Amino acid sequence: MVDQRDYYEVLGVERRASTVQITEAYRKLAIRFHPDKNPGDDEAAGRFKEAARAFEVLSDENLRSRYDRFGHAGLQGGGGGQHEFNDISDIFEAFGDLFGGGMFGGGRSRGPRVRKGRDVFCGVTLSLVEAARGVTKTIQFARHEECDTCSGSGARPGSSPQACEYCGGKGQVLQAAGVFRLQTTCPACRGAGKVIKDKCGDCVGEGLTEVTVERRVTIPAGVDNDVRVRLAGEGEPGGNGGPPGDCYCVIEIEQHPFLRRDGHELHCEVPVTFSQCALGTTVEAPTLEGPKPLQIPKGTQPGDVIRVRGLGMPDVRGRGVGDLNVHIHVEVPKKLSPRAEELLRELAEEEQAEVSPKRSSFLSRLAEYFTAEPTPTSADANTPDA
Ligand SMILES: [Zn+2]
Ligand SMILES: [Zn+2]
Repeated sequence: MVDQRDYYEVLGVERRASTVQITEAYRKLAIRFHPDKNPGDDEAAGRFKEAARAFEVLSDENLRSRYDRFGHAGLQGGGGGQHEFNDISDIFEAFGDLFGGGMFGGGRSRGPRVRKGRDVFCGVTLSLVEAARGVTKTIQFARHEECDTCSGSGARPGSSPQACEYCGGKGQVLQAAGVFRLQTTCPACRGAGKVIKDKCGDCVGEGLTEVTVERRVTIPAGVDNDVRVRLAGEGEPGGNGGPPGDCYCVIEIEQHPFLRRDGHELHCEVPVTFSQCALGTTVEAPTLEGPKPLQIPKGTQPGDVIRVRGLGMPDVRGRGVGDLNVHIHVEVPKKLSPRAEELLRELAEEEQAEVSPKRSSFLSRLAEYFTAEPTPTSADANTPDA
């Protein structure tokens, strides 16, 4: 058996981390090591799988508490880790039965096992505008439901499941071990108490079929990529009368062509000309609501950021709205019309005549520095040796 890292260590969370913290830590790792992002990288693929397994165990209350008590040893069933997680929980149940059931809270081995259904997941893609306003989306996901053909009994219509002969329908058998008498799950019917001789053709005796479910999900304004919206009770059916699992809609937000999001803040870049910056002007700036006029003050510098209050993303808990940060990108023309060149040359002359204080201080400091320590002039450097 390969040495396995501690699942808390894999996810980088503390042992008492909340489910939200575990989910968040897993999400970050899943994004980082996703095979699509790391093609051909075996190490990343390994880390991705490792994180997925750690998350499946630690996000399930039942499995987590067992892992906390028994570590990996408890999770390693006969199949060498190839099991689906439902099967792992079956292994735990069997393990519990061997010790008389008391080990896992007592009394569990009596009667059919009640088990919460597994959670299912689906992705929901939103535009940035939808994320900002909130939206109701129709989503589809696959889960199992009671088979229509046999009404969930698993038996071919017209027939019915029969009481297990081995345990007499109780699902449990008593075994003598020395002075102890242990009650264990019936090996013939695996605790169900009944056996299906003539199986339903549609569900092969499982009583369940996979269906695609369509639901409307209301997504609040301000959600970000790390949000999962829970549809309670929309997951897989529970076992033996247990409650169904939940469906989690994982939000993914599309890139906006002009706006970049950073938490509540939005950023965009607006190209302006040198003369627009110098003189001040009004330009069209992209916002969530479409282009809006933006005042560029006289003397705006390259890289200046103009902050527009309240045009960012709303907080998902309703605590205010962020700002829009417009980054000014000054374009220097690469081609000039004869008229533009004429005007610029005239401007250059004017600049020579009246040097700005900043430029004048720069020139004098430059001269001072290079006079103190003489260096070859550019003319000398460029003259080839005769
Ligand atoms: Zn059926
Ligand atoms: Zn039985």
